[in-house]
Amino acid sequence: MLHSDTPAKCCSYCGSREHDYEDCPKRKADAERQRKEQQGQGPAREGLLAT
Ligand SMILES: [Zn+2]
Repeated sequence: MLHSDTPAKCCSYCGSREHDYEDCPKRKADAERQRKEQQGQGPAREGLLAT
């Protein structure tokens, strides 16, 4: 079996072969967005108080 220098990467998150799952920029971006959404459960309500 040939052992390639660069292991075959296949991102199971977005399907890219440029990176693997752990390095997926899309996954990180989504995770960060989710974290922000969970933290910030306030600012969106401002409009409701204006009545
Ligand atoms: Zn990816």
